[in-house]
Amino acid sequence: MLRFTILGTGTSTGIPCVACNCETCISEDPRDTRLRTSLLVQSETTTIIIDTSADFRQQMLKHGVKKIDGIVYTHHHYDHISGFDDTRPYTFFNDNTPIQCFALRQTHEVIRQTFPYAFGEAEQVGGGLPGAEFTIIDDEPFMIGDIEVVPIPMKHGSIRVNGYRFGSFAYCTDTNHVPLSSIEKMQNLDILILDALRYHPHPTHFTIEEANEMSKMINAKQTYYTHIAHQIKHADCEKTLPENCFLAYDGLQFEIA
Ligand SMILES: [Zn+2]
Ligand SMILES: [Zn+2]
Ligand SMILES: [Zn+2]
Repeated sequence: MLRFTILGTGTSTGIPCVACNCETCISEDPRDTRLRTSLLVQSETTTIIIDTSADFRQQMLKHGVKKIDGIVYTHHHYDHISGFDDTRPYTFFNDNTPIQCFALRQTHEVIRQTFPYAFGEAEQVGGGLPGAEFTIIDDEPFMIGDIEVVPIPMKHGSIRVNGYRFGSFAYCTDTNHVPLSSIEKMQNLDILILDALRYHPHPTHFTIEEANEMSKMINAKQTYYTHIAHQIKHADCEKTLPENCFLAYDGLQFEIA
């Protein structure tokens, strides 16, 4: 059995946005509070985190994650990598064993440029460093512990990103184009998590309408939207969605046999 926990469903600003007083940002509905987009995947013996979001520390505390067997990155944008430094305690409390990280080549390069001190490129030595060992991935499936991870290549504006499939669950954040070859990798899904930023068009994310169309093409039993901006108020938007489409929210869990 695999358990999936949605750690965050917010776009890059997080919701509420600082300095905003819109209806969503002052909403008392807990589903309108969204940490940055991230996912926890767990089997009996293996724990995987998808992306180290800007809210990584809070997300790990909230869900009591005591060990991580692998971190898998979708892409290099700051909202998805900036929690990398906060992985340090997982190394300290695990006999300084480096955390296994899996990323596209470009993602690894940007993480290296953003956190040079963690890669032996510090101006001085001192203090604790994140210990991470990177494996460069592309579109070939790979194993972390007993969990098979199947990359799903997608476009996010002009950049290549990866979605991931685990059994009958797929996670496709930060995209506005899923090629046919990747739609084929998502047949017979029970649950699809899909990018849907807002109502108005955006150059790198699906709108709600585009996500509705994409979910019809992929045809999972249920589709849940993530990476949601503050223009979307949960209760109002969800009423307008097609049957089998929903908005995800922080803390939402799924279990799959
Ligand atoms: Zn993002
Ligand atoms: Zn707002
Ligand atoms: Zn992005």
